[in-house]
Amino acid sequence: MSSNKIVFLEQSKMPTHYYNIAADMKEPMAPPLHPGTKEPAGPGDLSAIFPMDLIMQEVTQERFIEIPDEVRDLYRISRPTPLVRAANLENILDTPAKIYFKYEGANPTGSHKTNTSYAQAYYNKKAGIKKLVTETGAGQWGSALAMACKHFGLECEIFMVKVSYNQKPYRRTFMKLFDATVHASPTEITNAGRNVLAKDPDSPGSLGIAISEAIEMAVQRDDTNYSLGSVLNHVMLHQTIIGEETRMQMEMVGEYPDIVIGCAGGGSNFAGLSFPFLRDKLTGIKKDLEVIAVEPASCPSLTKGKFEYDFGDEAGMTPLIKMYTLGHDFIPPKIHAGGLRYHGMAPTISHLYHHGAISAKAYEQNEVFAAAQLFAQQEGIVPAPESSHAVKEAIVQALQCKETGKAKTILFNLSGNGFLDLGSYEMYLSNQLD
Ligand SMILES: *Cc1c(COP(=O)(O)O)cnc(C)c1O
Repeated sequence: MSSNKIVFLEQSKMPTHYYNIAADMKEPMAPPLHPGTKEPAGPGDLSAIFPMDLIMQEVTQERFIEIPDEVRDLYRISRPTPLVRAANLENILDTPAKIYFKYEGANPTGSHKTNTSYAQAYYNKKAGIKKLVTETGAGQWGSALAMACKHFGLECEIFMVKVSYNQKPYRRTFMKLFDATVHASPTEITNAGRNVLAKDPDSPGSLGIAISEAIEMAVQRDDTNYSLGSVLNHVMLHQTIIGEETRMQMEMVGEYPDIVIGCAGGGSNFAGLSFPFLRDKLTGIKKDLEVIAVEPASCPSLTKGKFEYDFGDEAGMTPLIKMYTLGHDFIPPKIHAGGLRYHGMAPTISHLYHHGAISAKAYEQNEVFAAAQLFAQQEGIVPAPESSHAVKEAIVQALQCKETGKAKTILFNLSGNGFLDLGSYEMYLSNQLD
């Protein structure tokens, strides 16, 4: 075994382009529909809340898209992130498998979300926008956008899902440190929020509700846009820097994964790592590559949802998107993986799943935390509860290799660290997770 545990990629070798998987899909994706007319939504339908550069990225068929210099410069604060061989975990599992993880928790806000927040803030700034409004679940996305907005001199207003607002108080502090305004959603300041509260004053909130509130605020002013941290094609696109780096890092150690794993809420970290490898599967170079999305058993959009047109938000303000969905009014249980409490799945991922290019698994909260604890004890990193779903599946696959004797190479995305989730770990340790 090589004694190097970490594969570093030189900053000068950082990828220059994002990868657009739409270019390699054999069947075309179903277009988003206008919520009123039910006709395919055109760029004009989105221009009230998104800058044209991002709208074009949403629909482009170009395979590679250049990363702007200003964004690459920001990436250099923390990228390329390390690829790590989880050798201690392999040892304790006594598996012939090799386990690698890409550590996106090394980014400034503790997760992969800055990969797209920098790009989104940049394109909005370029379009003359003064303020961005968004939603956030556990607060990782809000933190990433707050940081990016501060850098580009934009105001930032954030609707944070109420249950997470209370479960993750330090992420609130983080966002405020970067001068963002943070509300616990549902609020009394939007129609969408007031409607929910009228029906259920104790609503824990959901990402769908917070998105409705954010869009409602954004459409009211011309100098204000909306920004989404996952789900949309352009967000998946920005996240592919993860997999593009990982391809190079695996190559540096003479490896190629047999299995690629990511947790999936809206799907962006999963897409970010897996799409650049799926390119080889879609083009027939690596037909046997296994790609697995992992979700919470309590919010199982891929494994239990329906593949149909649905709204991206609770109130029905977004275009209708064809995706695996539990229904836009689904309120997920208050699990601690706040970033995975979303009713739908990215249309790109839904499409790939529907056509059999990827598979999906779901796990209960308790088994996920147990896997996270084992990982932390072996590798010294406390994973975010979201990322711990990927950790769990990596362990399951490694144990399967132990049974079959196959030495597969397993790669997973450690999408974030859990240093601001220790309150949730405390509840796990004291048997108080419900
Ligand atoms: C936001 C988040 C997720 C879930 O979002 P995806 O778009 O599915 O990646 C997963 N892990 C971490 C650490 C996050 O912050």
